[in-house]
Amino acid sequence: MKVLITGGAGFIGSHLAEAYLERGDDVYIIDDLSTGSMDNLKTFLHEPRFSDRVFVTIDTILNHDIMLELTGTCDVVFHLAAAVGVRTILEKPLESIRTNIQGTEKVLELCNKFKKRVLIASTSEVYGKHLHAPLVETDNIIYGPSSKFRWSYAASKLMDEFTALAYYRTNGLKAVVTRLFNTVGPRQTGAYGMVIPRFVDQALAGVPLTIYGDGSQTRTFTYVKDVVKAFTLLMETDAAVGEVFNVGGVEEITIRALAEKIIAMTGSASVIEFIPYEKAFGKDFEDMMRRVPGMEKIRNIIGYEPETPLDEILRRIINAKKETLS
Ligand code: UDP
Repeated sequence: MKVLITGGAGFIGSHLAEAYLERGDDVYIIDDLSTGSMDNLKTFLHEPRFSDRVFVTIDTILNHDIMLELTGTCDVVFHLAAAVGVRTILEKPLESIRTNIQGTEKVLELCNKFKKRVLIASTSEVYGKHLHAPLVETDNIIYGPSSKFRWSYAASKLMDEFTALAYYRTNGLKAVVTRLFNTVGPRQTGAYGMVIPRFVDQALAGVPLTIYGDGSQTRTFTYVKDVVKAFTLLMETDAAVGEVFNVGGVEEITIRALAEKIIAMTGSASVIEFIPYEKAFGKDFEDMMRRVPGMEKIRNIIGYEPETPLDEILRRIINAKKETLS
């Protein structure tokens, strides 16, 4: 099978590419390297058993001719290319909206043209600022005002979901929508604000771990290889077409407890520093205080359970970071 992965040089995309290469498939990657990196591909790009089955195009998904050729060539499409991380959204709001909305529209238009099955990576951000848990796919959504630019990310991703579902309803496009909760693992960089790589880097460097707010906000974290497994299963499941699925973890933890755990696991002498949100992100920011997925729908359809506990995830990330430092 030929698999197209937009954003394939990104953190999740590169792990997905590796999984399909391991299965014996051909992998086509398109990435503009805005937040992705060739470094993410280095473990398999030049590996002799893979090198004649992996094809990398450095370009934007807004390039019609290139996307036309790639979509026509491949059997299935994973659409992961997007503006990544709240910090990127706040710093480059227009570019982010354009990438997320026009880029996804382009991918869907071409998948529809060639009748290719497509999985869209949306985000748990679309739920907005709920306080309840778990968040289930049929929940209402609550956003802040348009002056708070954080919500432009959620709104643009929600529009992607609507577009995918509209193609399904009107043209029968075989589209699957996933809402990713916090996904973590080796190769994720802290450069775009993600908390675990930042805390691990800080702990290993012996500098303070920077908690935004009072640290009472909670998250669940999913190991990237568990997410990859969910993606491949959903792509193979006919009953998933035209549906929206949470993909996330089950262990809810406060950011303060996470910081303490990382300090303990690294044996670091670092202290914790609390930074007001406004100082970290400016006045347009509002945090999500809880983000816990309901997993019933995905469990029922593909029997999915995240397999890697948080302590094990952290151990692997810390070890991978130590290796890059040595
Ligand atoms: N966070 C933090 N310190 C950091 C980076 C993030 O306290 O250096 C917090 C952030 O405010 C949020 C949580 O950790 O409450 C998760 O942040 P991340 O950006 O990883 O994911 P998201 O906010 O998209 O869930």
